[in-house]
Amino acid sequence: MSVETRLFHYAFGLGEDALDSAEWVEVSWDSTHRRITTINQLTDLPVESQAVNAARHLAITPAFVNAHTHVDLGAASPINLLPNEDMIDWLLRVNQSRQRSPEQIDADICDALNVMTSTGTGIIADVGQHPRVVHHMANHGVAGNVAMEFFHPSPWNLENNQPFWDRVMPLWAAFQEAFKIHGHQALTLGLSPHSPYNVSPSAWAAVVEELQPHFIHAHIAEFEEEMAYLNGETSRINDLHQAIIKKTFDAEAPFDAYLQNSFWPSSGLVAHGCELTEKDILNLNRRLHLHLVSCPRSNLHLHHKTIPTHILNAIDSPVLLGTDSALSCPTLDIRDEAKAFYSHHELHWDAKQVLKKMTLDGANGLTLKDDLGSLAIGKLAHFSIWDVSHVDEKESMLDVLLDTGRTPEIHQRVALGQVS
Ligand SMILES: [Zn+2]
Repeated sequence: MSVETRLFHYAFGLGEDALDSAEWVEVSWDSTHRRITTINQLTDLPVESQAVNAARHLAITPAFVNAHTHVDLGAASPINLLPNEDMIDWLLRVNQSRQRSPEQIDADICDALNVMTSTGTGIIADVGQHPRVVHHMANHGVAGNVAMEFFHPSPWNLENNQPFWDRVMPLWAAFQEAFKIHGHQALTLGLSPHSPYNVSPSAWAAVVEELQPHFIHAHIAEFEEEMAYLNGETSRINDLHQAIIKKTFDAEAPFDAYLQNSFWPSSGLVAHGCELTEKDILNLNRRLHLHLVSCPRSNLHLHHKTIPTHILNAIDSPVLLGTDSALSCPTLDIRDEAKAFYSHHELHWDAKQVLKKMTLDGANGLTLKDDLGSLAIGKLAHFSIWDVSHVDEKESMLDVLLDTGRTPEIHQRVALGQVS
């Protein structure tokens, strides 16, 4: 066992609840088991020692959580909706942008991971179709979930389901293989049927029953067309999927449609929720204990709305934050998402609570709270070290750290116990 010890002038996200902060904190971790072994606040500091001088401009936070993204779509600029373009046509164009060479996909995944890790994110709930994501997330020292997405599947009916299995099963086997080779203690594999309008209830139920995923990560109630479709009304999704699904849904509220499919395991994430209703909240909170992830910048970009504030206020559990992919989000910096979320909903900005939302709450939603989400003894050493030499306002240091406009830079990352 080899122990690393570092001194920091400012420490945030301390303790089991990630709400404590302190000055002159020494953190030690065991780089073999990757866990934090001691956290001490130092009082009798030798004023001019080398260690103190080295630490004078350093602040530490737990790694941030991006609870909904698609790293395989890269970090390129958004694909904008064209004037008068339907969401469906935009989705088709996005789907086309996924036709890339394996080398390009690798490069895109690395771009996205580099952008995120360089802005403090170290825990990601990813939704995608490429098993190589597992390799790259492990390589970049990123923790979190990878959910295998099956999107616009081949035709399905119960008499002849072979084309569907022929597509889903090998992909699942490839993800499992990738986990066997590259997975690590803080990475889990789940399933993402992109959203209910892509997959018939019978297909969805059958896949979940067959694959028994650890968790499900779905898009939910994202846009109006989807809701019209789920309610059996005329919708262009109907055109798009008529040949694929051969069935319309019949449900009163968005969540009912999802519940009819009875596919939820005990943990899961549902992203967006722009069209959620009061009735859905009961299911979300009391019945399923799912975590809702809001991606306000992507929602506002694509739909000119995000989860309604009164719905947000009715949800008992903390709503998590995600960026969605770079195709609908201008940066993959989760701090920008927090800014957009708090300002759109006119919420009071309390930096400690915001940090908690971006760390411990996120880790909890990803079922990784025992290992991640705060700086506490026994948790994995997974944090960002910030250079705050340009920051004058010591009393609002955390506000500055969470504000991308004020340019604090990552000095170093400690990713799963390894300095990188
Ligand atoms: Zn998404």
